[in-house]
Amino acid sequence: KESLDQGLQKTKETFFSKITKAIAGKSSVDEEVLDNLEEALVSADVGIETTIQIIKRIEARVARDKYVGAGELNKLLQEEIEAVLVEAPEQGYRNFEIPADKKPYVILVVGVNGVGKTTTIGKLAHNYKKAGKQVILGAADTFRAAAVDQLTIWSERVGVPIVKQAMGSDPGAVAFDTMQSAMAKGADVVIIDTAGRLHNKAHLMEELGKIKRVIKKVVPDAPHEVLLVLDGSTGQNALVQAQQFTATTDVSALAITKLDGTAKGGVVLAIASQLKIPVKYIGVGEKIDDLLIFDRHEFVDSLFK
Ligand code: GDP
Repeated sequence: KESLDQGLQKTKETFFSKITKAIAGKSSVDEEVLDNLEEALVSADVGIETTIQIIKRIEARVARDKYVGAGELNKLLQEEIEAVLVEAPEQGYRNFEIPADKKPYVILVVGVNGVGKTTTIGKLAHNYKKAGKQVILGAADTFRAAAVDQLTIWSERVGVPIVKQAMGSDPGAVAFDTMQSAMAKGADVVIIDTAGRLHNKAHLMEELGKIKRVIKKVVPDAPHEVLLVLDGSTGQNALVQAQQFTATTDVSALAITKLDGTAKGGVVLAIASQLKIPVKYIGVGEKIDDLLIFDRHEFVDSLFK
């Protein structure tokens, strides 16, 4: 909770001050309050579509409840913002538990280079290991030597094995090796890194499709999770990137990184509400413990504090 408040500090400063200004001295929700709120939300990187959605909800709520006092306005706003966020359907991941019938639990990690993919994989591996799970990493981003090197450093830091091949080798072959190794070791969790930028969209789609097929050869119902990593500090660009990625491949969950040090954290609301894909994790720093489980209530609550 504390690290969430701390991680969101910059976003909170802008968001809260704008919201506070928007409703300052108001004891009921009139046209002016709604206009001010709209402006505040948009400038906090919540994005136009999500902002309109929130404003509409507030209008409906005010029409229903008739009078809303100044003290209630904050609470109402929080509730309606929270309501546009999707809740992750399955909650076991909050304790880094894995479903009993999914062993090994296979996570395919996708996203553009530089967003914090490797770091997020390292943090995830650390959390699963801490929860007593046997983890194995697969370095299937074979396009950049640095990607394999970075992942290797994380594997050593966390103390989990990594499967890799020479740079430029077939990502499908690395994925297959990783899966076979996981089966041989009786691993609980497999986390596979993928290349973020290939020649074009069709190529990326083909490559990810191939990796998925190879994984299925070993575990037919895997991957159990396709985690898209996005850089929250890029604001609305992260939303655009997310839309492009989800048009390319099925994504089941999101991790939004670098929310520390940015005032654009409102984009989490835009991404979560527009894509209808649950945000599972948020990154609030470069260190191993700087990955938080996303909770929409806690998140919105923290923005308003
Ligand atoms: P990749 O290319 O997507 O694998 O990105 P990396 O994992 O190598 O991360 C790129 C840079 O972002 C590195 O310097 C990381 O330390 C940094 N980074 C990753 N996640 C976070 C985060 O949540 N907060 C901050 N401040 N930096 C992060």
